[in-house]
Amino acid sequence: MRIESLTVRRVQMEMLTPFTTSFGTQTHRDLLIVEAHSSERTGYGECVAMGAPLYSEEATATCQVVLEEYLIPMLRSHGAAAGTPGVVEIDHPQLIRQILAPVKRNSMAKSALEGAVWDLWAKHQGISLAEAYGGTRSHIEVGLSIGIKDTDAELVSAVGAAVDAGYRRIKIKIAPGRDLQMLRAVRREFPDTPIMADANSAYTLADVDLFRSLDELDLMMIEQPLAHDDIVDHRHLQAQIRTPICLDESIHSAEDARKAIELGSGKIINIKIGRVGGIAESQDIEALCRQHGLDAWCGGMLETGIGRAHNVAIASLAGFTLPGDTAPSARYWAEDIIEPEVVMDRGVIEVPTAPGLGYDVVEERLDAHTTETRTYDLTAA
Ligand SMILES: [Mg+2]
Repeated sequence: MRIESLTVRRVQMEMLTPFTTSFGTQTHRDLLIVEAHSSERTGYGECVAMGAPLYSEEATATCQVVLEEYLIPMLRSHGAAAGTPGVVEIDHPQLIRQILAPVKRNSMAKSALEGAVWDLWAKHQGISLAEAYGGTRSHIEVGLSIGIKDTDAELVSAVGAAVDAGYRRIKIKIAPGRDLQMLRAVRREFPDTPIMADANSAYTLADVDLFRSLDELDLMMIEQPLAHDDIVDHRHLQAQIRTPICLDESIHSAEDARKAIELGSGKIINIKIGRVGGIAESQDIEALCRQHGLDAWCGGMLETGIGRAHNVAIASLAGFTLPGDTAPSARYWAEDIIEPEVVMDRGVIEVPTAPGLGYDVVEERLDAHTTETRTYDLTAA
């Protein structure tokens, strides 16, 4: 497959409802869409970094610089190094990880570019992204992530609405001061609902008593309670509590996952394609989880339909054993940029079988949200 050009778009989208975590409140998404063009088709990838470097060190603006000044030129010189200057031939999208490997981390920037190439490749092969990724499920189970609410009553009503909508598990964001009492209030109202909590690294080992108390609530898991870059303290915490720890921010690669598994730092991994640097790395983590008997699920970063479609496809792999944060488009956007939108029926999303993303990107809608576009011709020597 010959890649002729790459386009990087800066996109602004207003969220239907603000989303609050321990990092702060988001009212809109400032993100990048990467397009990989062959002479006949276009593949799409999404850069899921937040507007500010609060979830990880990456932010939309840094990803744009890294893509435009480093990653795209590396792809171009790959053609030259292969003895065919001006021609970027990619036999398989797994090769992208290798080409971009000299750049350290910058996972979300890499992942956006890799994702666009995977979509383009799948379209050329005439297969769905799910099939390209090695997925085996025809349907995936969906959970919902609920941001921090001002009052317990507001949260209880949001959980009630999510249960009524059929979500298979409810994730509740917590932060110091909005944790145990709040979760108790929810558990009282919903004694049998699969509930988990996500702390987004807001606590330390000094809070071990709080986490011991959470054991009484029979949560499915507690996600990333401790520092974003830690696996050692998580090991000590896991040894003292019954609730399974799920690692999110701490796992940036299959190597990180291997070490965390070896230490016993958690029992579950939230695999986010962007956080770990792309599909090839996600596939390796999924395989590790299966091999070692860990559960895994696909996390969300408030994606548009493009990133959401990649998530639905990766969640169809056998190792994604728990419902993910792949809620339908209508939860986040007044109007998504894909057609049809991602829809859920009683907590289940059907994995598309059409080539590539399996959803059509609506160019006019994407254009309407695009604030900046740059195209890089790869055929020019
Ligand atoms: Mg998380």
